[in-house]
Amino acid sequence: MWVMWMHYKSTRNSGLSLPASQVIAQGISEEGGLFVPESLPQVQEKLPLWREMDYRTLAKAVFGEFLTDFSQEEISHCVENAYTPGKFGGEEPVKLIPLTENKHLLELWHGPTCAFKDMALQILPHFLTKSLEKSAEGKEAVILVATSGDTGKAALEGFKDVPGTKILVFYPRDGVSPMQKRQMVTQEGQNVGVCAIEGNFDDAQTAVKTIFTDPGMKQALYDKGMMFSSANSINWGRLLPQIVYYFYSYLELHRTGRITSFSEPVNIVVPTGNFGNILAAYYASQMGLPVKKFVCASNRNKVLTDFIRTGVYDRRREFYATSSPSMDILISSNLERLLYALSGEDSNILAGWMGKLQKNGVYDVGPEVREKVQKLFYGGFCDDEATAQTVRRTWEQEGYLCDTHTAVALDVYRQYVEETGDGDTPAIIASTASPYKFVGHVLGALEPVQEEDEFENLHRLEALTHTQAPQQLVSLQGKEPRFTQVTPREQTADYVRRTLGLA
Ligand SMILES: *Cc1c(COP(=O)(O)O)cnc(C)c1O
Repeated sequence: MWVMWMHYKSTRNSGLSLPASQVIAQGISEEGGLFVPESLPQVQEKLPLWREMDYRTLAKAVFGEFLTDFSQEEISHCVENAYTPGKFGGEEPVKLIPLTENKHLLELWHGPTCAFKDMALQILPHFLTKSLEKSAEGKEAVILVATSGDTGKAALEGFKDVPGTKILVFYPRDGVSPMQKRQMVTQEGQNVGVCAIEGNFDDAQTAVKTIFTDPGMKQALYDKGMMFSSANSINWGRLLPQIVYYFYSYLELHRTGRITSFSEPVNIVVPTGNFGNILAAYYASQMGLPVKKFVCASNRNKVLTDFIRTGVYDRRREFYATSSPSMDILISSNLERLLYALSGEDSNILAGWMGKLQKNGVYDVGPEVREKVQKLFYGGFCDDEATAQTVRRTWEQEGYLCDTHTAVALDVYRQYVEETGDGDTPAIIASTASPYKFVGHVLGALEPVQEEDEFENLHRLEALTHTQAPQQLVSLQGKEPRFTQVTPREQTADYVRRTLGLA
């Protein structure tokens, strides 16, 4: 059989041409750009065939288009280990829930940590170990993560006991929610480490970056047969798995009869932070999935809303800690990939804009690219009050209990329909976390909250709504912490050396 090889270039160096395994092992391109496919596979004609597939079979088909230096057996191994039946609750890892005739919630949070990041971080470790076998002589991967909450836990669960990997997670001592902290310090697994850092998220991130780029550390690791690798959300290996569920949910609308042709468009609504999840939907559409509009929903940190409306990306603004903390972000890294596509794949232009962002905190893409963005995307935002109101209304009027991130998406979608009148196009709305993961805010939207204790709130929310908290969260109550270490920022490197047994 004749196989098309898929290569990858960088948003800041169009001249590169690397295989998928190297792109996944490396994470980010040397000049600071992000890896993108040289071209996107066109799959319109395969949709009738894909319609008949279960999630895992579809995932293998999608990955087969992109990971052309992996064998079918290797891809199959990755998929079967990541999306094992039962690991995400039911037979299929995602669920599509109709709220009304036209509103469908795509639940992506039935995995081990109750947030959508599991969809990618359950499979990334398998992609990564295969990639290292191919491009780095089977070196052991050491993953360092600085986290403000969701990513750290999802990465720990993904890499837990995966042969050929070790993972160390650093979180700011005073910067994560009680439930998130509990999730991390009770983490199981033989190859994991978790450490609190004195300071805020920036301190943790700086400490990790310093270690990553320390030549002495790199050599010491190399001598031990190890190398640093990244589970960061800009790794292509995290974006690719997210393309699958947009096809799956569209085809599910087809299977249930809500859509009857393979050209009928949908709207896709995504609560957005780093622009990864919504970018995967855009890639799906460029491959042949019919999408009318991408609705990009932000919280009060509305840098993307402003960008979509004005073409000016301006991070020089106050940072707000909101009730949807996983979207509290002022630099949406993956936007770079969209702008690369919309500016004619000109890496010089991109390098210029990203340089301006770093130096001045602002760049302007000009009218031509702005119009292209606006043709595809609708941007909107809502504050904490509107978020709470949406949680309450969605529960009272539609009988659906949603988390705060999903509520942001629902409210911005409401604004979109109000503004455009486009309420008849079927909408797929990404539901990105279990309501029990952000239980204080969700309960607080329904009644005044008295308790500080997360588990009191969890049980109260269960009693009030007659819904069930995920077992993954319930079972954390009373579980012994394994990782109680707190390290000053400047001693982080010592912790890494000690834990890895380096000289
Ligand atoms: C990470 C996260 C998001 C934002 O996703 P991006 O890909 O960063 O845009 C939204 N909701 C939840 C619950 C998350 O954990």
